[in-house]
Amino acid sequence: MTTITAELHNRTKKKPIKGMMDNVMEQFYSAADHIELHPNIRKILSITNNEIIVHFPVKMDNGDVEVFTGYRVQHNNALGPYKGGLRYHPTVDIDAARALAMWMTWKSSLAGLPYGGGKGGIQLDPSKYSAGELERITRRFTFALGDNIGPEHDIPAPDINTNSQTMAWIADTYMSTRPPAERTANQHVVTGKPDGSGGLEGRDRATGYGVFLNIKFWAARNNESLSNKKFIVQGFGNVGYWASHFLEKNGAKLVAVQDAFGSIRNTNGINVDDLFNYTQVNNGSIVGFPEAFDLDNEKFFTSECDICIPAALGNQITRTNAPKIKARLIAEGANGPTNVEGEKILIDRGITIIPDILCNSGGVIGSYFEWLQNRNGELWQLSEVMSKLDKKMKESFDKVYDFSEKERIDLRKAAYCIAIKRIEKAYVQRGIFP
Ligand code: NAD
Repeated sequence: MTTITAELHNRTKKKPIKGMMDNVMEQFYSAADHIELHPNIRKILSITNNEIIVHFPVKMDNGDVEVFTGYRVQHNNALGPYKGGLRYHPTVDIDAARALAMWMTWKSSLAGLPYGGGKGGIQLDPSKYSAGELERITRRFTFALGDNIGPEHDIPAPDINTNSQTMAWIADTYMSTRPPAERTANQHVVTGKPDGSGGLEGRDRATGYGVFLNIKFWAARNNESLSNKKFIVQGFGNVGYWASHFLEKNGAKLVAVQDAFGSIRNTNGINVDDLFNYTQVNNGSIVGFPEAFDLDNEKFFTSECDICIPAALGNQITRTNAPKIKARLIAEGANGPTNVEGEKILIDRGITIIPDILCNSGGVIGSYFEWLQNRNGELWQLSEVMSKLDKKMKESFDKVYDFSEKERIDLRKAAYCIAIKRIEKAYVQRGIFP
């Protein structure tokens, strides 16, 4: 006969690591319970409004045709048009798109923006395709999405493995397929465009800069300085690079980095811009950077440091590595990098987590500025963009930090409570049609 302890042990051993959808739902229910969210609104927010799956053919360079699957999930638009990125990655599926779309709803709401939440992408490994193939894939995906996206309806942005070039292709394809009189007025169908094509100066750094600001605000609240603080970064793309750049400028020291190809470390510090320049001539990879040593991937998260910035994929900090993490602060540049089990362990160990929907919200705030700029036919200066971003990020951080202290809850739950309450208010005021 199995003893209870043995059975419990087996159960723990077999328990699968929770997926992103499990995490976002658990986080939502926990906050909904805390604010005693009305059961009807709980029902509405528990599910996505629309899920679009498209299969579309694209001609490859060798003349063969490949059929791709693209997703766009629209979670909720009570506060405004759906907003959220498009990701090109092998892990993109309907479950990931649902979770990421939900996170966008909370993020836009928390930032006080007139947006709902959406997310999507294509399940592919872009490194296997030429630039020409990626352009045709993007344009055909845009065509397949048709009127499911639009500047006042659903506004995509860059995410993993998509960038300003991808957004320029989407905008051009969308505008080219509108009736003639509407063509040029629709460039705000996407944000994160190049600055010569309706993009916002500073949108490239907005997310990483926002991550840095959150860390700075946290340090100030705790009477600490960033000077000589050691930090590690997972993902050295748009978010990871810019967050590192601003932290280094403010005296902190990058001591370990991980990307899709491997991990490196140097306890004396890794120069951020030298590493960035190296990736530009090394197929985007950090591996082999001469001023650092190789590090086992498994040892990355448990490296000696003060601050850890996961800025790559979801579900990276779990019950497996959370007990051994050395950082005192986790600043979530990525969406959903810490799962619920990992988070419980970190909180029990007294480690603070600045949650994704707050920490990386500089991106969607920058996107909002770009959308406003396009809608009003304006051109904003970089200094104006950065100071507006500073102000908005500070408001969000203070709101969340103060609420967490007042209610004695962690920062994630506080952020969720604020975000959900704002959506609840819109439903209560408007009622449900018919
Ligand atoms: P990116 O494509 O510019 O960079 C991604 C980085 O992650 C690359 O360095 C890549 O090598 C690395 N990576 C990929 N798989 C990895 C793995 N298995 N292990 C370690 N590293 C891996 O993407 P990005 O725009 O910087 O986005 C990163 C994260 O930030 C994503 O979770 C995204 O949803 C989130 N985010 C991005 C923005 C934005 O404005 N770009 C805004 C909010 C949130």
